Amino acid sequence: MKYVDEFRDEGAARAIAGKICQLGESLQSRMQKICIMEVCGTHTVAIERCGIRRMMPKNVRLISGPGCPVCVTHAGYMDAATELAMKGVIVVTFGDMINVPGTRTKLSECRAAGARVEICYSPETALEIAQEYPSKEIVFLAVGFETTTAPIITLLETALRKKIVNMSLLTSFKRIPPAMIALLEDPEIKVNGFLCPAHVSAIIGADAYRPIVSEKKIPCVVAGFEPLDILLGISGILEQLNKGRAEVENQYSRVVRNQGNMKALDIMSKYLEVYDAPWRGLGVIPRSGSRIKDEFEKFDAQKRFGLEIKEYKSDGACRCGEVLKGKIRPDECPLFAVACNPLEPQGPCMVSSEGTCAALYKYGDGINED
Ligand code: SF4
Repeated sequence: MKYVDEFRDEGAARAIAGKICQLGESLQSRMQKICIMEVCGTHTVAIERCGIRRMMPKNVRLISGPGCPVCVTHAGYMDAATELAMKGVIVVTFGDMINVPGTRTKLSECRAAGARVEICYSPETALEIAQEYPSKEIVFLAVGFETTTAPIITLLETALRKKIVNMSLLTSFKRIPPAMIALLEDPEIKVNGFLCPAHVSAIIGADAYRPIVSEKKIPCVVAGFEPLDILLGISGILEQLNKGRAEVENQYSRVVRNQGNMKALDIMSKYLEVYDAPWRGLGVIPRSGSRIKDEFEKFDAQKRFGLEIKEYKSDGACRCGEVLKGKIRPDECPLFAVACNPLEPQGPCMVSSEGTCAALYKYGDGINED
């Protein structure tokens, strides 16, 4: 507890916030507005919960990017998941996914209609159910960034070892660095620095951001989740901007190594290959996803059940696509807190507790940005 408290010290937070204000001021003549984007849902929640946004000087804007894996899962994937559920397959999933809308329905509605949709806290549950019901097909909804990809993919090791043949994965694994590059290449999006994710970086390593800083000349600072971690990350970005530098900085070295977690990276590369993946709101991004290699295709639910996964360009009135790119704040969506709230979410950014809309709904008490 003492260790955690160290990173929540109010006096230290005020001191770093003061430094951030000085750095912001000294940049004012060169940069009227400095946009710092976090690409991690846990950062998004921590920023709202701790009131960090309100500690920023007027010219520093914190914006949220595509940091929540549930939010970036596109409607076509959800259509495939609901199709499987309605065909009698036992669908196993983390809880948030059951309320993510597809184009026709969502898993919670399939469940109400009699489909078997099991909510789990660990991917291992899919294997347990597969062993319990050997005559049934079990599909685990394998959604996540690099942090969750590694533990989910170890299911295949276990399934092979235990000769479990009735479990497969419907994958929507995403890779964060290609999405960061895609955001920088969109002329409508302004990002001056990235607050790089903590959990994801523990897997891929701080070195994974070096191509971004060398190609795009944008500071990338890896930060933890405590208030002081985040403030130090923001201060690190502003210091780099002040000095005209663009480097990878690891403010979370107590957890993140430069080379990442080699064991996790090895198992991911054994079973998965990189491909151009569709993201909700961002479209298809080159090399931004991981899918099961052909040699392990019996574990790939899309191939096993011949599913066509379509990509849809629009989410109707929901503006999650723009929220995920940091183009608008959630409260700029006309449905925010009116027709859309955590009990009746109209889009995935309000479904997941780490979604930008849900975080602002729960913790935001007014945004003092222009
Ligand atoms: S407030 Fe609701 S409808 Fe609007 S963008 Fe967020 S999730 Fe979509």
